[in-house]
Amino acid sequence: MFEFNEVPLPKLGITGLEGAMSEEELAIQDMAHRFAEEVMRPIAEKLDKMDHEAAIAEDSPIWEFLEKIEASGLLDLAAIAGMSNEEKARIIPIIFEEMAWGDSGLAMGYLVSKFPAFVAYGTGDAELIERFGNLRGCWAATQPDRGSDMVDLEKTEGHPGEKHSRGNLVARIDGDEIVITGQTSAWVSGAPIAQSALLYCQFDDGDGIYYKDGSQKYIAVLVPFDIAGISKGKPLDKMGMRPLCQGEIFFDEARIPLKYMVADVDKGLPSFFGALTFANMEMGISFTGVARAALDHALAYVHERKQGGTELINHQTVRLRLFKMHQKVEACRAMAKRVFDYNYGPNGPHLLASATSKTFVTDTCVEVCSEALQLFGGNGLTREYPLEKLFRDARASQIADGENNMLGLKAATWLSKAYKDKHDL
Ligand SMILES: Cc1cc2nc3c(=O)[nH]c(=O)nc-3n(C[C@H](O)[C@H](O)[C@H](O)COP(=O)(O)OP(=O)(O)OC[C@H]3O[C@@H](n4cnc5c(N)ncnc54)[C@H](O)[C@@H]3O)c2cc1C
Repeated sequence: MFEFNEVPLPKLGITGLEGAMSEEELAIQDMAHRFAEEVMRPIAEKLDKMDHEAAIAEDSPIWEFLEKIEASGLLDLAAIAGMSNEEKARIIPIIFEEMAWGDSGLAMGYLVSKFPAFVAYGTGDAELIERFGNLRGCWAATQPDRGSDMVDLEKTEGHPGEKHSRGNLVARIDGDEIVITGQTSAWVSGAPIAQSALLYCQFDDGDGIYYKDGSQKYIAVLVPFDIAGISKGKPLDKMGMRPLCQGEIFFDEARIPLKYMVADVDKGLPSFFGALTFANMEMGISFTGVARAALDHALAYVHERKQGGTELINHQTVRLRLFKMHQKVEACRAMAKRVFDYNYGPNGPHLLASATSKTFVTDTCVEVCSEALQLFGGNGLTREYPLEKLFRDARASQIADGENNMLGLKAATWLSKAYKDKHDL
């Protein structure tokens, strides 16, 4: 039993029901929280309201953000690489929940900007680290005709008897170079301001891009943008996560040193699986931060706004609605952190885990943002208040990094496969 002499008030941490945290973790959380509040929120508010082309122009506040986050050392790749798995599972979610509480578009944009560098460091190859370690990057996987079709890991998503789309981008090898032609989708996050990409694309080994079973040959390449044959489209104008710019990358017989192929045709699919597993895991904790931001705003608002002769919070139903939001935010965090533990633990990582978190959290985040907006009444719909932005951001998260139904379909297949494997079926 727990013993008390009197009924105390609950002690809540920055994120709510916080258990024990080390001094180092508290310091990182505090630093990330202050950065999110003082730097990210004001910049994101401006970017959200700006024209999408102005948002990447020379005088855009996006550059101030990038300069300040680099200087903050919040995502120091070398420091993260030196952490134990246990440290990664505890510290990375602390940083990303806070950053996305500040702004999900900026947080996700900064994360993907590090993807090519992450991969270069992962190879341990000095030449790749030198070439890509300091370049601002992006993660190019989808193409105009290949959205959900981009990857069918268990070959369960095609219509019977049909092949997935050929797509719009093909790589081939010519001597000691990879030659790439075609284009990515307009959805490549950060592409308009990127200097490099971690690119996943179809591979023609001289015998076409399809294997006999209809699946595709696939490779991963680090692409520097300062070579001939690469150009970019205009930034995309979209509804949510507007501080995160997006756009196409065009390849016109772009020739890239063969050495920059970081996953060959045997490793292309597993490499993509790894990238998506990481990205989905990050989406889970990040949109926990967005849901918490909505709850925080709602909590403040109902203590100020009066209706029925008193502050909204004094109405019982309002308190109950807030409590349900709080429950959902706590459930999101519990799920997201459990998935970090799994992925950095002895049984992980796996996309089943990350998709479980990503789909649950982003769907729940939409519910929480919607209820928070409802609590703001008409004010929730105006651009003067923060809720309509958070709602738009949350809505985008159900499609980013894999549309939620398609991720659920993949996860469901693995649940069944794991069961069959366990029971020799
Ligand atoms: C904010 C944001 C950021 C993004 N960032 C990146 C990025 O950095 N890099 C990148 O490469 N891409 C990025 N994307 C693209 C993203 O991965 C795709 O939008 C997503 O995979 C869905 O593809 P799609 O938009 O073409 O939809 P489609 O694949 O056309 O899907 C449309 C609908 O059809 C359904 N559907 C599709 N196939 C099937 C099927 N086989 N069975 C049943 N239903 C099906 C889907 O569930 C969905 O509801 C981003 C997208 C967003 C919104």
